[in-house]
Amino acid sequence: MGAPQKIMPELPEVEITKRKLEPLIKSKRILNLGGKKILRIERKGKAILIYLSGGKILGFHQRMSGKLLIVRRGWKDKHTRRIFHLSGGKDLAFHDVRRFGVIWYGPVKKVLDDPYFKTLGLDALKISFGEFKRILGERRAGKLKPFFLNQKNLAGVGNIIADEVLWHAKIHPERNINNLSDADIKKLYVSLKFILKRSIKLGGSTMRDWFHPDGGHGGYFKKRYTYGREDEKCFRCKTQIIRKKIAGHSSCFCPKCQREQ
Ligand SMILES: [Zn+2]
Repeated sequence: MGAPQKIMPELPEVEITKRKLEPLIKSKRILNLGGKKILRIERKGKAILIYLSGGKILGFHQRMSGKLLIVRRGWKDKHTRRIFHLSGGKDLAFHDVRRFGVIWYGPVKKVLDDPYFKTLGLDALKISFGEFKRILGERRAGKLKPFFLNQKNLAGVGNIIADEVLWHAKIHPERNINNLSDADIKKLYVSLKFILKRSIKLGGSTMRDWFHPDGGHGGYFKKRYTYGREDEKCFRCKTQIIRKKIAGHSSCFCPKCQREQ
């Protein structure tokens, strides 16, 4: 089993970043941003938003390899893109080996006007069953896997969560949205919530370039059901998991117990 590579933080990893960061930085001032006070932190899709006094937001999207770390003052690393000096003596570092991460800073309205936020769908962790069913109904045509990956439908789901949810719900990633029964939709919804909560509980999936703001690691990858388990046996039926490219994304699923019809 290879090390997890080239995977972006998804909802669970960003949620964990938010939950771990909040008690470490809330109420602190950012000395090199005019002493602005950190009021609260929010996750929006896969982005972290730090609300500051003076009506400003400092926001981050970790993308491929970005991470937010709390470090001692003076800590240096060549992959650090920005350092924020906090009152109390620590620094908040945005570390980003591949430099695809995004940093926003500006008035609340201006930052939230960014197309990333403007087009985000409902949050996958907070969406109600009625809303989930309505969105699936509005889309009608198309396959399930790309539906889950499109942030305009649901915010926060990526390749890992999508594969895990579909395996858990026993539904094929290429199933057409328009032939899902009410029972299928219910199963998908229950599995979506179950997988997200399970991943958050386990600390997310630790990837090569990602860990928690306090240096912790996630345990989900070791306990995953199907993502990246090509040629290994399905935990339910022992059939070999197969990998197929679907809408440009590598998908792992069980050809036997994930029904196509
Ligand atoms: Zn199976």
